[in-house]
Amino acid sequence: MKILSKSLAWQKNYDLTGKKFGKLKVINFLYFKKPHKKSPKRRSHFLCKCDCGGKIIVDSNRLSSGHTKSCGCIVKRKYKIDEKYFEKINREDKAYFFGLILTDGSIQTKKDIRIVLSLDKKDKEILMAFKRYLKSEKPLEFVKRKERYYGRVKIAASEVYRVTISVRKMVYDIVKLGLKDRKTKNVIYPNNKIIPHKLMRHFIRGVYDGDGTAHKGVYNGSTTRTLQFTSGSINFLRGFQNYLKKFKIKNTKITYYSRKIPATGSISKYATLQINPAIKKKLGNKQSKKSGRFISRPKKETALNQKNFVNLIYKNCNKDLYLKRKRKILENLIS
Ligand SMILES: [Zn+2]
Repeated sequence: MKILSKSLAWQKNYDLTGKKFGKLKVINFLYFKKPHKKSPKRRSHFLCKCDCGGKIIVDSNRLSSGHTKSCGCIVKRKYKIDEKYFEKINREDKAYFFGLILTDGSIQTKKDIRIVLSLDKKDKEILMAFKRYLKSEKPLEFVKRKERYYGRVKIAASEVYRVTISVRKMVYDIVKLGLKDRKTKNVIYPNNKIIPHKLMRHFIRGVYDGDGTAHKGVYNGSTTRTLQFTSGSINFLRGFQNYLKKFKIKNTKITYYSRKIPATGSISKYATLQINPAIKKKLGNKQSKKSGRFISRPKKETALNQKNFVNLIYKNCNKDLYLKRKRKILENLIS
């Protein structure tokens, strides 16, 4: 009984559960602990949730005194930025940049909380556009890397420009949209709650600029046209393949690969999605003995899906929201 009454008294006088301090709402009591070794008394520590979505453990003194008012997201910023940018994908530019970040960017949600998008220096223009849409005053970072080795794998020297966003709220917002730490393996294709159907084609353009490759060549005297996406996330590609059907882009194929990384000995799995997988001409219109399907398809249909794709992603799009060199590659592909 003694314990109970003590606990009731504590609850009455010291329990801060449900109270609000600045942007922090106290969720529940966690434990008693000395804030640091030399402090004479133990203090009660509470789990708090911040308005921005972040969580933090704070002791009673720091809450009551007003010392701690947020999860750390209230800081005087050196540079201004539109903090609400990733709250909702409701504009062409947001859909496009989300696609680009999802495929080519990275985020860190532990230690150094941030979103990073680095692109080769020849694609500087699109990062400048990103900065404009973000209303960011922060200059682009320029990073020069020497040729280096990852185990036995040579990584070529590079010169990149980089946008780094270290606003916690923006990082948490983009996590809510489906981007995760070490995203490549876990990322899934966004649904229409995340990206409305009418903006999806701009997202896909971002995915192409990030992860897409196209190549026109000659094989056995006939023109070959390859358009493909490579990803470490098989689920992402499957979702992408399904969504393309909504735009009447069919004849796509996913191929699975695994590769041993020499440096670590671990196996890396990845896959490619091809729009109109390559057909070798000499097969003609033969039927497969196994499946009974025609091995090759009529040429017109082959080109049509790729043309539809190019039309889809560039039709009436904003002229500062695509990589010009990659658009040229696609236009050459279907010509
Ligand atoms: Zn916060």
